Amino acid sequence: MPQILPWPFAPANDTVATPYFDYAATTPVDERVIARMVECLGKSGTFGNPASSSHSFGQRAREQVEQARRQVAGLVGAEPQQLVWTSGATESNNLALKGVAQARGAAKGHIISSQIEHKAVLDTLAQLQGQGFAVTYLAPDKDGAITTDAVRQALRDDTFLVSLMLVNNELGSVTDVAAIGDLVREHGALLHVDAAQASGKVVIDLGTLAVDLMSFSAHKTYGPKGIGALYVGPCANGRLQAQIHGGGHEQGLRSGTLATHQIVGMGEAFALAHELFAEEQARIASLRERLLKGLQGLPLAFNAARTRQIPHTLSITAYSDFALGNALAVSSTSACNSASNAPSHVLLALGLNLAEATRTLRLSLGRFTTEQEVDQAARAIRDALLVPVP
Ligand SMILES: *Cc1c(COP(=O)(O)O)cnc(C)c1O
Repeated sequence: MPQILPWPFAPANDTVATPYFDYAATTPVDERVIARMVECLGKSGTFGNPASSSHSFGQRAREQVEQARRQVAGLVGAEPQQLVWTSGATESNNLALKGVAQARGAAKGHIISSQIEHKAVLDTLAQLQGQGFAVTYLAPDKDGAITTDAVRQALRDDTFLVSLMLVNNELGSVTDVAAIGDLVREHGALLHVDAAQASGKVVIDLGTLAVDLMSFSAHKTYGPKGIGALYVGPCANGRLQAQIHGGGHEQGLRSGTLATHQIVGMGEAFALAHELFAEEQARIASLRERLLKGLQGLPLAFNAARTRQIPHTLSITAYSDFALGNALAVSSTSACNSASNAPSHVLLALGLNLAEATRTLRLSLGRFTTEQEVDQAARAIRDALLVPVP
């Protein structure tokens, strides 16, 4: 018989229909962002084509696009002109990896990445392997981290590119890209970092990091879906082959009419993330503490808990089967794997077996998470875990 644990909080008097604990999959667009986006759409708004430099409609749109570029750059310590607009982190990852690889012409060579990357990196690398590139996929250590040592040991004379994520989308673990960047630069290779889960959650200062390419997405940071950016640092500049041609927008690296409303939305979202950073970090850390308190003593393990983690993402594996039903909007695997319904490659790489991977939940907290929702989540998980599955 499972032990009955005392409930640490006051009883809930009202409950939220289905609390949202999947901010790592996507976030709602902040109302302040929506307001700015709408201004770019209608006849009296900034609807002009940012490439129409011959009239004020286009010029105004261009100004908005460049302001957004400064806002995104401001959050991550980059120069505005080092950012290229894309359709999201998936495209940024494709441009970074294929762009650097294919710019080498016939040279081919070796790339280092990890087993816990997002599919947007893994599937792109698989494509490059098909074209003759060699790829090493590092395994995480027992705590879920990709270490500088692991990268050092994998470096080869022909290694020209390393691609690692800053924050893992399933575990919330943070990679030490500062140390890895120094190592990779000393070796003469480029470092690409997928930061889709990191913007607004960890401090990023591209002015001091030895990172050459960094991918961003708006919709994980309270901006709209369908817009992202790729940072191209000085060492990567000129070593990147465009993947989308047609008009030479974005310094020739990514053609296509700039989506003013999306770009303005991303800019505003990143500016807000910058402005709210300290306050939000503290608030989410305290919500996490509350959640952990509510889960205390339950028959479950916390994944990657001994490595550096952001407070927003919590991965738990129950010791036995349970049924949560529709009590919570959580992820049982990353949304990208959900499409194929396959067990999470990240959890398997961490050493979990198939059964453990299917007993794992990712709870991700965000800007609009309330204490009441946290209590409801903890209670729903307690109820599910303490009631044996029939
Ligand atoms: C969400 C996510 C992506 C994909 O970003 P899109 O903007 O949806 O294409 C890539 N990498 C990581 C780590 C993510 O979490």
